[in-house]
Amino acid sequence: MLGLMQEQPLLISSLIEFAERHNGEVEIVSRRVEGDIHRYTYRDAAVRARQVANALDALGLAFSDRVATLAWNGYRHFELYYGVSGSGRVLHTINPRLHPDQIAWIANHAEDQVLCFDLSFLPLVQAVHSRCPTIKHYIALCAPDKLPADSGVPNLTSYESWIAAQSTQYQWPTFDENSASSMCYTSGTTGNPKAALYSHRSSTLHAYAAALPDVMCLSARDSVLPVVPMFHVNAWGIPYSAALTGCKLVFPGPAMDGKSIYELMETERVTYAAGVPTVWQMLLGHLKPNNLKFSTLKRTVIGGSACPPAMIAAFQNDYGVEVLHAWGMTEMSPLGTLCTLKNRQLALNADEQMKIRLKQGRAIYGVDMKIVDDAGRELPWDGKAYGDLLVKGPWIVREYFKGEGGNPLIKDEHGVQWFPTGDVGTIDADGFLQITDRSKDVIKSGGEWISSIEIENIAMAHPAVAMAACVGMAHPKWDERPIVAVVKRVGMDVSVAELLKFYEGKTAKWQIPDDVVFVDAIPLGATGKMLKTRLREQLKDYKLPTT
Ligand code: AMP
Repeated sequence: MLGLMQEQPLLISSLIEFAERHNGEVEIVSRRVEGDIHRYTYRDAAVRARQVANALDALGLAFSDRVATLAWNGYRHFELYYGVSGSGRVLHTINPRLHPDQIAWIANHAEDQVLCFDLSFLPLVQAVHSRCPTIKHYIALCAPDKLPADSGVPNLTSYESWIAAQSTQYQWPTFDENSASSMCYTSGTTGNPKAALYSHRSSTLHAYAAALPDVMCLSARDSVLPVVPMFHVNAWGIPYSAALTGCKLVFPGPAMDGKSIYELMETERVTYAAGVPTVWQMLLGHLKPNNLKFSTLKRTVIGGSACPPAMIAAFQNDYGVEVLHAWGMTEMSPLGTLCTLKNRQLALNADEQMKIRLKQGRAIYGVDMKIVDDAGRELPWDGKAYGDLLVKGPWIVREYFKGEGGNPLIKDEHGVQWFPTGDVGTIDADGFLQITDRSKDVIKSGGEWISSIEIENIAMAHPAVAMAACVGMAHPKWDERPIVAVVKRVGMDVSVAELLKFYEGKTAKWQIPDDVVFVDAIPLGATGKMLKTRLREQLKDYKLPTT
């Protein structure tokens, strides 16, 4: 017997329809590429998203055709999120930090038909358009008077004139909720990039989950600033969860420096922000010397890379801001775990609570996880056993777009399929995951694993250290020994001996790195993660100290 509830597919258009009807007056504020601040409401956004849908119809785009963006976080990008996906096309957000060759490669692989871009990325578009034969239309996200003359880009239209010509009336189509809604290529370090192809169902379920109190805890009381880019895993789903909850949205545009972010937080009374550790480092670097405090910020979700303990402590102790440490990946839409305490843990003292907060957190309903040994056997949840982390759930990839890379899933002894994350970690008895490494970055010394994240976190707690990356170096006796590459804070100094001494008492003696190498910068990838492969190449002539 089937239940007798109404059947309504989970479609992204339903989110913006809901926002328009129930929270239509709520503001969306954007710092624009033009430099000024733009304000309007969910109602305005919904109207313009419908114009986008009509404009795509007018171009003759078919169901599931891909529309690419090269854009910052802003209201026009938000309208594309809804106009493109809501009308049944697939939004392909491209990371503008990729190399032009990679951008051309993925635009061709995705067979993008339209490319919408912020004017900051005009040079990129000029560099790639002749290599992207599938793209028939270029839309610059600006008013017609800002459209550059003689850009050399074919079929170039301004976004404002493109949608102005369209009706504000549009009936969002109803279709299978498993239809593709958006796509994002992963920044893999080997092989061709692979795309996660999200569906309406996966994105809507993820939007529900992300808003839960033990996840991002988003509500209509919040003013939310997603610093995490809309070109990387849908800004962790915030543009969808925001429409679902009716929170105020504040978009930073291209100004990602600490001063600009701080100003926006204060003027727009931001209560909640989301970003990767490197961005928050810039923010804290602006606050401290200028003796500034937050007047409204209450919570920040930090993920994408391990959040250094020193950062969690600074936010909490110096600024009264709760840090929610999060873990996920492109293939997971991206949320997997979030670190919030359980009721029983509230009775623990501050130090014990902090130890928990450093972990990547607990699985969200919708995500299951386990750690396994090399033979695929599940390891105990004792907070000690390390293993490869496997996940499954309705917003986790089944396969990549066009089957790239073959079947990524592995079957366990019960025939259940799991996605191998490529991360290594522990899970404790309370279900808190702690990531110790990417599996390819694991350091094995004398048969024992050393967590490079732990070694980096300790270095980052030293006041003179701006950034630290730990890598293993071949060793004749121990196979590998860790060394730590360090970028010093401007105007501060520390010696190798001082830093090595700083490790004493903070980790087991045999885990203390053999050496510290000072570098000007740690190579970063397109999503701000440390590129250890490149760091290892840079250090290829390095020799470990012999004593
Ligand atoms: P991406 O698909 O580019 O978002 O990268 C996902 C990868 O980033 C994960 O598989 C982890 O290796 C890493 N990552 C994300 N969040 C965290 C975190 N909180 N701590 C440690 N690593 C993280």
